[in-house]
Amino acid sequence: MKSNITLIFEKGIDEELQNYIPEMDIEVADLKEIIPQILLRNDIPIPNVPEIVIVRHFVKLSHKNYGVDTGIYPLGSCTMKYNPKINESIERLPGFSQIHPLQEENQGSIKLLYNISKFLGEITGMDRFTLQPAAGAHGELAGLLIMKKYFEHKGIKKEKIIVPDSAHGTNPASAKMAGFSIIELKSNEQGEVPLDHLEYAMQGGDVAGIMLTNPNTLGIFDRHIKEITQIVHNNGGLCYYDGANLNPMLGICRPRDMGFDIVHLNLHKTFATPHGGGGPGSGPIGVINDLSPFLPEPCIISTENGLVCKESTGKSIGRIKSFWGNFGVIVRAYAYILALGAEGLLRVGQIAVLNANYLRVLLQKKYYLPFNRACQHEFVISDKNMANNITTEDIAKRILDYGIYAPTIYFPLIIQGALMIEPTETESKESLDYFVEIMNKIYEEAKENPHLLKNAPHNLPVKRLDAVIAARKPVLHD
Ligand SMILES: *Cc1c(COP(=O)(O)O)cnc(C)c1O
Repeated sequence: MKSNITLIFEKGIDEELQNYIPEMDIEVADLKEIIPQILLRNDIPIPNVPEIVIVRHFVKLSHKNYGVDTGIYPLGSCTMKYNPKINESIERLPGFSQIHPLQEENQGSIKLLYNISKFLGEITGMDRFTLQPAAGAHGELAGLLIMKKYFEHKGIKKEKIIVPDSAHGTNPASAKMAGFSIIELKSNEQGEVPLDHLEYAMQGGDVAGIMLTNPNTLGIFDRHIKEITQIVHNNGGLCYYDGANLNPMLGICRPRDMGFDIVHLNLHKTFATPHGGGGPGSGPIGVINDLSPFLPEPCIISTENGLVCKESTGKSIGRIKSFWGNFGVIVRAYAYILALGAEGLLRVGQIAVLNANYLRVLLQKKYYLPFNRACQHEFVISDKNMANNITTEDIAKRILDYGIYAPTIYFPLIIQGALMIEPTETESKESLDYFVEIMNKIYEEAKENPHLLKNAPHNLPVKRLDAVIAARKPVLHD
């Protein structure tokens, strides 16, 4: 599909503008004498346009971008919050950004890594952390490999793992990659784990434990969480906590106190790093003491002689990322945690929950809310109440027309036509009200003018795409 954006290559040359730079009056070097033949390129189609044309072209393109710096980004599960710019400045300090991990002068960086491990320990209750995993899913894989190694070490064969159907999609994928087969547990009418089914599944014998996303992808905190971990432990299993979105828990409760043995956090979601399109991320995992010998190496430990890299325990799952992980993301999270302090983090959690519930209550006046109860940082509505067979996709495309980004759609899979909304704590009441106003307008449009929705978006450079062709045969140019 052709968009209405003119490419820089299609711009004409305005000779007058072009001519303000004087003609070159020095001899032009013969590149063939300087650059090896094999590296010489002759016909590079560099557009020959004046500076002002280039500047305007790229500035205009940048205005077509949408990001959290332009408006609300209510993408459920992804926690697209506003990231304070000071974290960017701190990460870019030469002492952090220009240092090589093998330089001897990196004691400051090692101290930062050590300190943030301690902070994460306080926040989650876990004994020891590794900062190596480069993303949430990577942390899950590392955590499950630890689980596997733990049982192997004990000489117990455990090949299965329980994953509720309200888990994040990466959970079963990581479990499979770690070599487990998956027992899926169907959520009950409250959107929680049915304890009797869990008990039954655990008694199956070779079950290594459970992988729980909490709050789950419905934005629901499982009220029986302590019973869940107890059932798993009573049956010789371990409990893995997917804490990618720990926002709503910050300063309020801790996975360790709920009975979990391993937890991963997404620093890029819970704390502060602008992310999206696959990165950059950081998914540290924390474990209880019994599991710490299995953590990826090297670990940093504190001794009488200062901070040192601890040598191999012989039980580690090995290295899973070069050096210390995605250091820049870790620095941003560190700056964010220090700036907020314990009270600030608690407030982040409280407002994340308040904002989500504010939206939920206002939107459920019109939209269908399958699990009608207080939510955590996000909630899920669906297209069930929409007039004229208007679908979730139509709603999402129409939202774009109103100049804001659409929520996550068709996920979680357990709700047909899901729209998963996470406002985050950084949105003001004004911006939440604007979102509600748009959603209400769209609801009315569905009744009165469904074609408007069916053909949306109308005022973006690219109109409605054939999603199947776009996914299967993407045209990434022209
Ligand atoms: C985002 C997310 C993940 C995966 O994290 P990545 O950094 O994208 O790999 C896992 N679980 C939950 C609940 C998430 O929201």
